Order: sequence, then C-alpha cells, then structure tokens
Amino acid sequence: MNRLLLKSARRYPSSDAGLEDLLIDSGKVVQWIPSGSENPSVDQVVDLEGRWVLPGFVDSHLHLLYTEQHSRQISLAEKSLDRCITDLKAATREGGSLVGHGWRDPLPAEMLPTPAAFLDRHFPDKAVLLWNADFHRVLVTPVILAQLGKESGHSGVLVEEEAEAAWNCVKESPAKEVPAACQRLLRYGITAATTFDRGESIRAFQANPPENEGVFIRHGLPEEEFLSMDPAEALPYGDREDGFAVRWVKIFADGTLGSRTAWLKSGYTDDPENLGVARRSGDSLLATAESAGSKGWGLAIHAIGDAAVCESIRAIHSARMARTGGLDVVDRIEHLQLLDPGDAPSLIQSGAVASLQPCHLFEDRTIVRGRWGKRADYAIPFRYLLDQGVPVVTGTDAPIEDLDPWADLFAACERLDRHGNGEVEGPDQRVLFSEAFHSKTAGAAKANFLPEDYGTLNPGSRADFQVLENDPETVRRGSEAGLVEVFSHGQWRLNEGRVF
Ligand SMILES: [Zn+2]
Repeated sequence: MNRLLLKSARRYPSSDAGLEDLLIDSGKVVQWIPSGSENPSVDQVVDLEGRWVLPGFVDSHLHLLYTEQHSRQISLAEKSLDRCITDLKAATREGGSLVGHGWRDPLPAEMLPTPAAFLDRHFPDKAVLLWNADFHRVLVTPVILAQLGKESGHSGVLVEEEAEAAWNCVKESPAKEVPAACQRLLRYGITAATTFDRGESIRAFQANPPENEGVFIRHGLPEEEFLSMDPAEALPYGDREDGFAVRWVKIFADGTLGSRTAWLKSGYTDDPENLGVARRSGDSLLATAESAGSKGWGLAIHAIGDAAVCESIRAIHSARMARTGGLDVVDRIEHLQLLDPGDAPSLIQSGAVASLQPCHLFEDRTIVRGRWGKRADYAIPFRYLLDQGVPVVTGTDAPIEDLDPWADLFAACERLDRHGNGEVEGPDQRVLFSEAFHSKTAGAAKANFLPEDYGTLNPGSRADFQVLENDPETVRRGSEAGLVEVFSHGQWRLNEGRVF
C-alpha cells in the first residue's frame, strides 16, 4: 500500500474550516484536496467522516526506556510508611534488588535518625533503592552503601552524582524495552521524541532501530560518557532523516527546585543562605563545551535555577564558537525553569532553544513562590521567551510527569492544577493553544534534529499524523482526545487502520 487517500478530514492546524482529502504516497504528504473533488488513483481509500487529522506530537524531553522500567517499580507516592513497606515486601524477589520511587520530604519520624538502618531492619542484607519524586536523590540500604564505600552509620540518603552511582549498583539493562517504549509513545499520538538516558539506552536503540517501531528517537549523550570516550570516536551519530540520532552532549548544570538543588543567583526565598548546587560550571564546563562544539555536537544543558541558566548560555556561546562548517544542530537549555530577564539578550544571541516542561507546574506550583518569591514570575517563562523571540519546544519529562502531551499543552495554556482547579500560577506566562501546539509539532522539528518540515503535514513532509474524534482545542488530557489511529513511517500503528 503506497498511495493512500484519506477522505473528509478536518486538518489541524488549518485556516480553512472545510473538509479536505489527504493524499499520501510512500509515507509522505502529496497534497490536500478540497473534499468532493475527483479521487486520484490510489491503493486504498479511507473515509475519515470528518475526524481530525493533526501532526504526530514530538516530546522534546523525556526518559523513554527508563519510563518502561519505572512502570514496573514500586510507587511510594502518597502512601503511608506501613503501606510502602508492605508493597515493597510483596514485590521482593529472591536475590534481586528492589527499586521504588516517589518519596518526598520530610521522611517519616519512625525512619530517623538513620533511614538506612530502618530499611535494613525490614529488608536485611537486601539491595533496596528508593528514588525521591524528582529522581535526584535516593534512599538506599547498607548493602548499597557498602558497595559505594560509605561508612556504616551513613543516613542512606544520597544526592545527585552519588544517587547516580547508587543506581548503577542496581539498574537493569534497558535493551529489551525498545518496542514497548515506542508503542507507549504511539498510544499518546507521539511519533518522535528526544530521550535523555544513560549510554546503555543509546546502545539499545542502535541495536533495535526505532523506525521499525514507527517512531523517530533522538538521544543525548551524557557528559561523563563523552569525556571518557576515545576523542576520535566521540562524534555525533545519525542524520536528520534517520530513525535514530545522537546529536547533543547532555550536561547537568544543577539539580531541581523540589530538592532545593536548583542553582540560584541569590538565595532561596525561604532559605536565604542556600544557593542550590552548581553541578557543572566555570572553566571545566567551558572546556567540555568547546571540545563538544569542535566535534560537531550540540549541547543540551539541564538548567533549572537562574544561575544555572546564565552559566549554560555562556557554555553554549563557547560551543558555538568552536563549531565550524555550517552545522545545523541546535543547542538547547533543558527545563530553563527560572530565567533572570536580564539574561534574555545573551540567551537570544546564543541561538539556543528553550526546552520547557509546562506540566511540571502541576507539582511545582505549590512550592515555586515560597522558594523563589517574586522571581517566580519568570518560572517556566513560556510567554516571555516567545515574545523575546526565543524558540520554545516542550516535553513531559516522563516518567517524572505523565507521558501525556495534552496535559502538557493544558498546563502551558492555563497554568492551573492537573484537574483544572486552583489559582493560575504565573498568569502572564500563559500561551495560546496554537502556540503550545506549535512547540510540540512544527516548532519542534529543527530543535530535535528531525526531517525537514516534520510536524507540518505540508506537501513533501513526512505523513506522520494522528486521527482524533475530538476538536484538539477542547482537549485537556489524553483521555479526552478520542485518539483513534496513528500513521507513521508509512503504516497505521494502533489498529492497522481497521477502525475506519
Ligand atoms: Zn529529564
């Protein structure tokens, strides 16, 4: 089936309210024809009966294979301590380690003063690792502490790089997760995504090409791995048209708002001595930036606090100066959760894209004003960035938030809680639905190193699209969209087109 005609489609976005027929050949859009015209000769005709046709979504920042693993871990969120222990015990297997996630401060008094010792009483000699809600801290048992060379009596709470080291003691290989992970994207109408996982995730996609599953995957290379590679081999991988590409070195400049490790220019409003944690800064950061730039890499820098954002802009300038030969890779600031407006001119000059996750407001709305005060007027500053001319792309950061692109769009437009209630957090930073939609479709193509014109459904572009029962502008979460099919890489993906 090479030539396909979709009849009576409602195209979104479109300036034309009428129904159109969409002609596709070999996975590319040929043309849109006003409905009622004579049928061109094709292999298959499908009558969409007025359903909506819109580009597949691009999720610009998530942790894809880890989302699969996360779906099998024990969730601790919103549970009592007793319930957590019961659920963890029920999941305990002989030999293997035990992983949970979702705890928040403060830890229950019963666990103090030494949470590791408390866990060891319930899970003697077992490797137990419990991530906090933002995955920047872990709570571990003495077995893991011993592997990391920590003294006995350690609390068991580890932060940032030490949390990563603990995770390395228990993690499983993600190689077998690729097909289910790609299916998970398609069930949300997502046909392309940029994932930031560890090096074994890169190897998993190289061994299991994601285009076979109908999606484009882009990947960041962790800075530590870039620095440990043989310089002759530390080169970007894949082209725009390829199903898989690795084009950015991913650097952590700081931590998170939730863990009070976001790096700020001046102290936390409710903890003035604390500036957060600068994970990477100064000359060594600039050295990575230059070395990566000179090899043709883009940078993708995790920066939450305003100081981290400022330092990232400096690093991106260096990478840019070092990059020669007209490379079209785009540098990105991941999260960019707090902007000092004084940094806007240098941000614009750097050419970087802002990679935002409006859906983080669902959780962060309750703490952002208390910790950042008036500065929070420029938290997830979607409207301000667009007005300044900074390109914005958006993602869900799954599994930190749900992999639901509609919920993320809703957060960008309304900045309410996840049920649509509460006060608007940062009303001046709301954007129009069409603007938020653009950040997940046509506006996401270049920043995610996707094929030319991806996400537009213009003639000549990839025909990667979703079919909905409902008007996109009325949808506030995925369950309301009425997603009936996804077409990508030349095939129907959800029901083999049988729903029509
Ligand atoms: Zn992330």
